[in-house]
Amino acid sequence: MINLISDTVTKPTKEMLEYMMAAEVGDDVFGEDPSINKLEDKAASLFGKEAALFCPSGTMTNQLAIKINTLPLEEVICDNTAHIYQYEAGAYAFHSGVAVNPIISEDGKLIPSIVDSQIKTTYDWLPHTTMLAVENSCNRAGGNYYTLEEMKNLYAVAKKHNLVYHLDGARLFNVLVETGDTTKEIGNLFDTISICLSKGLGAPVGSLLLGTKEKIKSARRFRKAFGGGMRQAGFLAAAGIYALDHHIDRLKEDHQKATYIENVLNKTPWVKSIKPVKTNIIIFQTEDDLPASEVVQKLKAKGVNCSAFGNNLIRFVFHLDITEQMMPSLEKEIITLK
Ligand SMILES: *Cc1c(COP(=O)(O)O)cnc(C)c1O
Repeated sequence: MINLISDTVTKPTKEMLEYMMAAEVGDDVFGEDPSINKLEDKAASLFGKEAALFCPSGTMTNQLAIKINTLPLEEVICDNTAHIYQYEAGAYAFHSGVAVNPIISEDGKLIPSIVDSQIKTTYDWLPHTTMLAVENSCNRAGGNYYTLEEMKNLYAVAKKHNLVYHLDGARLFNVLVETGDTTKEIGNLFDTISICLSKGLGAPVGSLLLGTKEKIKSARRFRKAFGGGMRQAGFLAAAGIYALDHHIDRLKEDHQKATYIENVLNKTPWVKSIKPVKTNIIIFQTEDDLPASEVVQKLKAKGVNCSAFGNNLIRFVFHLDITEQMMPSLEKEIITLK
């Protein structure tokens, strides 16, 4: 099966599994899992942050970031397409009692002047804007990304208004292999950063929240309250260590495959338009008389799994379980679909 549903579907490689099996473990609720401690230290120093926290999911790291960075009746600004707003069950309201101001932009990227114009004054009757969250790369915008310069311009707006600046970097490494920007430059800009190990990096489970010692101490307490305090999870953290050591540079290969298929789709009559492919995600539109659900069904019958992203929208995501050998048959099934 060629599974393009998401980059979350990867299974650990043989080498990753062997590394996991050899992990030294302990009880992380007591702070005594050497593999988790090693992963947290490694990630924190990679980004030049003081501390990191290993969590079961990227939803939890984003939610913890909102929890530790805001108070009830405050407001978080993010893009309308952001994971925080769209795909986390509205949990910002549930866990943190905050509102979201979801700004509609064209390509998933917030524009500094618009963010600046959206900061609310501190009247009693308004939610107080205290946090700005950017997503890089932007999932729903087809893997589009902010350059360092663009993130710096948003940083300037955040600091001008005293907002906490958070990065949902579920796929940050997909961006960094394209731009050549460094983790230290990213660490310098943001107050808190969420990184997923379970997306393109290929670990089976896990995300990290990065920040100051004080913020991570607070996040650690709320992680427990959210039910995310794990015990001998060092086996999982080991997968994250392995992923950071071995699976970053190869993300380029996923991008090359996505670009190759973008070119195939470009020549395919039943494809109406394609969002410019920037990283490992392709979002494309089918002809009006061809519903996305029909394409999904037909491809599935041919052993290609993908998801409908709207009535006429399809998403393909490339990752380390999509091999070179799969590419000719993927190309063939696309061309011969209709
Ligand atoms: C996948 C993803 C997350 C986290 O998802 P989990 O499934 O909870 O790990 C967060 N943000 C973005 C942009 C994502 O794509």
